[in-house]
Amino acid sequence: MKKEFIFIGPPGSGKGTQTIMLSKEFNLPHIDTGSLLREEIASGSQAGKLADSYISKGQLAPITLVASIIKNRISKEDCKNGFILDGYPRSSEQAEALDDILKEIDKNENAQLTVFYFEIGQDKLIERLVNRRSCEKCGAIYNLKTMKLKDENTCEKCGGKLIRRDDDTEEVAIKRFETYFKQTAPLVDLYKKRNQLITIDASKDINTIYKDLTGAIKENVHS
Ligand SMILES: [Zn+2]
Repeated sequence: MKKEFIFIGPPGSGKGTQTIMLSKEFNLPHIDTGSLLREEIASGSQAGKLADSYISKGQLAPITLVASIIKNRISKEDCKNGFILDGYPRSSEQAEALDDILKEIDKNENAQLTVFYFEIGQDKLIERLVNRRSCEKCGAIYNLKTMKLKDENTCEKCGGKLIRRDDDTEEVAIKRFETYFKQTAPLVDLYKKRNQLITIDASKDINTIYKDLTGAIKENVHS
């Protein structure tokens, strides 16, 4: 069975880390929509140029454009056994666009779509965000609360300086969180109604979440 996984969760829920771990174990490509768009723009393709004309002005790229970039990516050979979509769909409109794409791509396939929702309370999320530091040099991400660092200002991987992103403040985090939920709540409801949603408690630690995640796959996803 072709495994099609969608990961939904607010920034700071840890879903990025989990998708990378899962991608390795299941040998499925991890498609991070943000990176995919950046790559498309860097490639100078027609779709990339068009996407850039919106994104560079701080606007959202149109639904049909993003959908066509996603479609191209998940039609590639490495996705024949499935894929992990991270950061897409983000709204009900995008979910509908994805439905159309999958209808076309999977017409002769035995595929199962499973959506993982990384659930986490606002307080916990804000605590995580304000404790987050990233390395100026190599981009490694640390959490001062959950990782015990020898020196809170120095990257353990490369010795670079650890900095806090300007937007990792409580005020900005609350705003980001509210916007996120307004947008994704209908999406979560939609997949729940279709019995495609699995809720993961993202307030736990990385290894426990991963255990829950793989356990849920064993139980719910056909091999
Ligand atoms: Zn570093």
